[in-house]
Amino acid sequence: MKEELYMYDVIIVGAGPGGIFTAYELAEKKPELKIAVFEMGHELKKRKCPIDGDKVKSCIHCKSCSIMSGFGGAGAFSDGKYNITNDFGGTLHEYIGKKTAIELMQYVDKINLRFGGEGTRLYSTAGTSIKKKCLQNDLHLLDASVRHLGTDINYIVLEHLYDYLKDRVDFYFDKAVKDVEKTENGFVIHCADEMYESRKCVISAGRSGSKWMESVCRSLDIGTKSNRVDIGVRVELPAEVFSHLTDELYESKIVYRTKEYGDLVRTFCMNPKGVVVNENTNGIVTVNGHSYEDPERQTGNTNFALLVAKHFSEPFKDSNGYGESIARLSNMLGGGVIVQRFGDLIRGRRSTKSRIEESFTVPTLNASPGDLSLVLP
Ligand SMILES: Cc1cc2nc3c(=O)[nH]c(=O)nc-3n(C[C@H](O)[C@H](O)[C@H](O)COP(=O)(O)OP(=O)(O)OC[C@H]3O[C@@H](n4cnc5c(N)ncnc54)[C@H](O)[C@@H]3O)c2cc1C
Repeated sequence: MKEELYMYDVIIVGAGPGGIFTAYELAEKKPELKIAVFEMGHELKKRKCPIDGDKVKSCIHCKSCSIMSGFGGAGAFSDGKYNITNDFGGTLHEYIGKKTAIELMQYVDKINLRFGGEGTRLYSTAGTSIKKKCLQNDLHLLDASVRHLGTDINYIVLEHLYDYLKDRVDFYFDKAVKDVEKTENGFVIHCADEMYESRKCVISAGRSGSKWMESVCRSLDIGTKSNRVDIGVRVELPAEVFSHLTDELYESKIVYRTKEYGDLVRTFCMNPKGVVVNENTNGIVTVNGHSYEDPERQTGNTNFALLVAKHFSEPFKDSNGYGESIARLSNMLGGGVIVQRFGDLIRGRRSTKSRIEESFTVPTLNASPGDLSLVLP
């Protein structure tokens, strides 16, 4: 096929929050620039996970996972929790300072409110008595303000952002970038049968593109460093059990240092009255959580992740690969995601279909009953 050459001032790879806000800032501050966004997933309204719990009960490994890819990126159907804090969720403050980092988060919050999030609640740990209660129990509550948009409002904000951007930016959906080449004038990006030229290139490929990004860095001779990987499980329990936390704080990041090995275990991504969902990253199926503002779509369960961070240095530093191989093992044993009753886990026995059915907590995700102790190191 004949290769054509196009010219942009800036090409952005990935239409997740990173790519969207890069496009937004450029469109606002430099409207004269010609900008394009390339996204391997679908546009927002075409993003639909085929799992309906009826005909399609579990992941069928679509070519591009609608949960992870497309306009809005990995968080498009997320709970829309925006944590305004330097205490967790990234290390931006190490590069730009704590004050500027908080100011930027507040700036993003204002944009979200302007594009449909007005009226949503901002929770805060400031002055809460839960902090003292945690300390009395050897637990540490991290400080944050949390804007909770909810999966439904988060979607509306994305719709409005797309409406605003589509006349200012060229979007290319279902278009995976295969290669990025440095040239005299800037960059040439290669898709399956076309290539596009730009003066600058911003790559914001997220988790689903992290392996590809490693190969781009190798080919452009850009140094990389190994990040931590979080290993853990998603816990689901009756919403009443955690309502004293979720009603006041919505999301609480609580840290515990284990007595035996000194591991720091933390809660992450709470979804009050939410659902557990599958997500497919490069063919490996794991779980995440969603929850809705709309009471009609809420469930009787709250879910959250319990995680331990693992850092690697030498000789092994492929933290991504480590996490992936644990998830792959779980997929191998369960044919997908494994669900286990807490009681079975601590008794050292696998869960079976009948044991899950006997449980008072009904899982919101259809997963294979099994034994997580065979998976977790
Ligand atoms: C179910 C779920 C719930 C979450 N809940 C929350 C939450 O409530 N609050 C919160 O703060 N965070 C949440 N997160 C995390 C949040 O979504 C991520 O931190 C955020 O999406 C990262 O943004 P990003 O732009 O860096 O990457 P991503 O959102 O991953 O976007 C990257 C995009 O790049 C595309 N891409 C990758 N490679 C290529 C390529 N070669 N060519 C073209 N396109 C490519 C991908 O398809 C993807 O759309 C959640 C994540 C999930 C999956």
